[in-house]
Parts: sequence; C-alpha cells; structure tokens
Amino acid sequence: MRSIGHGITYVTSAAPGRAMTWDVICVTSEGEECGARSREVNDEAEGVLWMVNHTAWTGHTRFERRRKDYAVVEPFLRDSTS
Ligand SMILES: [Zn+2]
Repeated sequence: MRSIGHGITYVTSAAPGRAMTWDVICVTSEGEECGARSREVNDEAEGVLWMVNHTAWTGHTRFERRRKDYAVVEPFLRDSTS
C-alpha cells in the first residue's frame, strides 16, 4: 500500500518472517466480564475452536478477537525504467 507522509511516498507491506497471530478474549458479561483468554495462535481456525469450546463449557457467546501482524514501511523508490 502506498501512502504519502510529509510529501514523501512510502510503501507499507507485511513484514517478512512474522506470521499473523490471533488471540481471543471472552467479553461475555454476567455483571462482570468473563475475561477468559486464549493463547496466541497462528491459525484463525484454532481461535475459532477455542471460542467454540469455551461456549460449550460456559454458555458464553461474545468474544473479542485480536488479530496481530507486523508491517514494514519503506520509502517508495520509483522504478528506474519508468
Ligand atoms: Zn467466558
């Protein structure tokens, strides 16, 4: 993705070698928020499985899903052929 900051064009991309991760927090409130939290996983389906198991055990149905990734921002250097 290209963006301009202070008149300079930058390119933002996913950082190589840093996998996207998910973690899930139960925000079901029964007067007080549950707050149960999954471990950080590299696979969205694993996060979904954690929620399903938590719901099966507790009946809790509302979750916050946090997806984390890493980015690199570099100045955009025009292709010398253009
Ligand atoms: Zn819960």
